[in-house]
Amino acid sequence: MPTKDSDRIKKAVTMATKAHEGQLRKTGEPYLVHPLAVKKILEEWGMDEDTIIAGILHDTIEDTELTLNDIKQEFGESVAFLVDGVTKLSTARNGMRDIDTYLPATKDNFLRLMIALGDDIRVLIIKLADRLHNLRTLSALPPDKQKKIAKESLEVFAPLADRLNMGLLRVEMADLSFKYVNPKRFDELKNLIDKYNKSAEKSLQKIEQEVSQALKKEKIAFSISGRVKSVYSLHKKLAKHNQNINEIYDLTALRIIVDDITDCYLTLGIIHSLYMPMNGRIKDYIAMPKQNGYQSLHTTVITKDKRIVEFQIRTKEMHEYAERGLAASFYYNEQKLTENYKKGKIEHLPTNLLWITELQMTAAKLREGKKVDLKKLKLNLFSDKIFVYTPKGDIIDLPKGALPLDFAYRLHSEIGDHVVGVKINGKMSNLNKKLEHGDVVEILTNKNQTPKQSWLDKIFTSHARSKLMRALRPNSSQETKKKRKPRKQ
Ligand code: MN
Repeated sequence: MPTKDSDRIKKAVTMATKAHEGQLRKTGEPYLVHPLAVKKILEEWGMDEDTIIAGILHDTIEDTELTLNDIKQEFGESVAFLVDGVTKLSTARNGMRDIDTYLPATKDNFLRLMIALGDDIRVLIIKLADRLHNLRTLSALPPDKQKKIAKESLEVFAPLADRLNMGLLRVEMADLSFKYVNPKRFDELKNLIDKYNKSAEKSLQKIEQEVSQALKKEKIAFSISGRVKSVYSLHKKLAKHNQNINEIYDLTALRIIVDDITDCYLTLGIIHSLYMPMNGRIKDYIAMPKQNGYQSLHTTVITKDKRIVEFQIRTKEMHEYAERGLAASFYYNEQKLTENYKKGKIEHLPTNLLWITELQMTAAKLREGKKVDLKKLKLNLFSDKIFVYTPKGDIIDLPKGALPLDFAYRLHSEIGDHVVGVKINGKMSNLNKKLEHGDVVEILTNKNQTPKQSWLDKIFTSHARSKLMRALRPNSSQETKKKRKPRKQ
């Protein structure tokens, strides 16, 4: 990490200082605080100089007298290109202030993200740093804006951070946002986690000692620490497991970092000789990395005092990459990556990031005005999500595995309650058919239709389930129906 600003960086700070002079943030501070915070975040991520400079100047085109040409003359093509990309991204978003039209806006944003990404992924990294600082200072905005920014961060930016394997960023973004999106639930789960951790503290210490002793005996160099589960990821997991906390096995996790891969597997063996591993809970992400490049061994064990503890075992490099992701690759391969970007070559990305190449090719097609078949796009940017369309072309995001009734209830409970059939991609289909990414879904309704008990088996999301349950209640009178109608935020 640079300890002293280079002359170019100093020059950029001076330029931004002049440009933003007199401007204030909503917090009342001078505007300059923001670009300087973005600079610091990018430095912490270990980004290259051009990216840092572009981060310092990222708001100047949109909000000040400075022009792209000024930036190009002073700092060259590459910096100007990055600033332009970030500006385009935020312009794309500006037309979409209304929270009710959020979903189509997501789609638009998403496509534009890709197009920008096609040129240089560093644009996204700057945008992520920008968004992170805005989230950290979100309390200064009015509540409706807080909600919109938080929701967008949760649905677009945090998954993006995950896709880039920027684990630290993902956790911070998700929890900062979730606090605004669902404050009650956030507090509830935060308390739950704190309580759980407190009750587990003593026995965890004991486990740590036992493991440490065993590893020392085998002369394995290691460091061990607890990892705290993020509130948002617990929320998501609970939704998957019908809110049953007893099915969440990774509330407590210990992380062991060792020197090399051999030591990873040795450590796994040692842990299994100490504690009973749980069936089906051993995951070898070293041999088979996650799609975002994440590597680690995971195992869940039952300790002598009947505690369920997850262990994550990895090397220092894997750890670094799990926390900083793509940014870490820039750090290690700075020269190479930056040079290749300048030459417009992208094939030298680490193999675990080849999906970026795929996105870039798609983006190139979009730029040329060619049609892109979303279905063929293995877009796993939102790997646990699918995007389906209404016949009008509005995009609805649903979890993978969602069924037509989930879609119907997502549109409106009035639609969900009166479903008589579904057309998928123009063809009659049935309510058991899993929706797929890119499907066009048309729900057929009849006002005489009433919700059926049997529909409970044809529902995947907890959202639709709770709506249907309410409708099935014997006394679900018109009056209560009216009350829950204005569900838009
Ligand atoms: Mn900004």
